[in-house]
Amino acid sequence: MKGLLFAVALLLAVPPGDVRPEVDTGPGGFLDRLFNPAGKGDYPLPDRPSLLVILDPGHGGDDVGARNPGQPAEKELALRLARLIKQRLEKDGEIRALLTREEDTFLTPVERLEIANGQGALLYLSLHATGDGGASLLFVNAPQKPADPSAAGEWRYQNNRHDAANRRFAADLTAALKKRDGGAPEIRTVATPRLFLGGANLPAVMGEVIDLAAADEEQNRLADAVADAIRKSARRESSGVR
Ligand SMILES: [Zn+2]
Repeated sequence: MKGLLFAVALLLAVPPGDVRPEVDTGPGGFLDRLFNPAGKGDYPLPDRPSLLVILDPGHGGDDVGARNPGQPAEKELALRLARLIKQRLEKDGEIRALLTREEDTFLTPVERLEIANGQGALLYLSLHATGDGGASLLFVNAPQKPADPSAAGEWRYQNNRHDAANRRFAADLTAALKKRDGGAPEIRTVATPRLFLGGANLPAVMGEVIDLAAADEEQNRLADAVADAIRKSARRESSGVR
């Protein structure tokens, strides 16, 4: 009985010789693709995948952000900057930039990070402006609970597995912004409340990078500088070489 079952199983498992799949040996066929991988056939080689980054224009909708009379609101300037930076980044196809909002829409901090997370992106930059002519500020997650207990009570700090990358990205942005400004204004990196960046599963920085009063020319220079920093950071993070 065992021998019979074995024979039946063998018959079912081995297809008769005349139904073997045919191997296409012509031009562009299986063998051609196997032995001529340099693209001699008419099949396309896969594109080199772009490095993906996320740009988050701060505020939006009812949340207008900072506002000074006679100047665009922070939400408008943030979206404008994000578009300018995206144009620069995507010039040569090396980098693709996804915006968390393309329109004047309201998003909570959590919704922004939900868009950013899970895309396989290398970096997240949330763009903000100041209305007081003050120093540029870059915000990263605090790496650890600060020594000052009152500050710990105010903000919920956490250890973030991207601490090191956050700081590398902030350093690249600082260097680029300083170059743009000729070293004049102060650029500081500070810790941010967990609400804003704590849920990011990629290296993330939030930046008040420009004043609401900035003219078109300054916006363009800022976009150049930020795009340079993002390109540098994205290349490094994707290469794995620190
Ligand atoms: Zn803001």
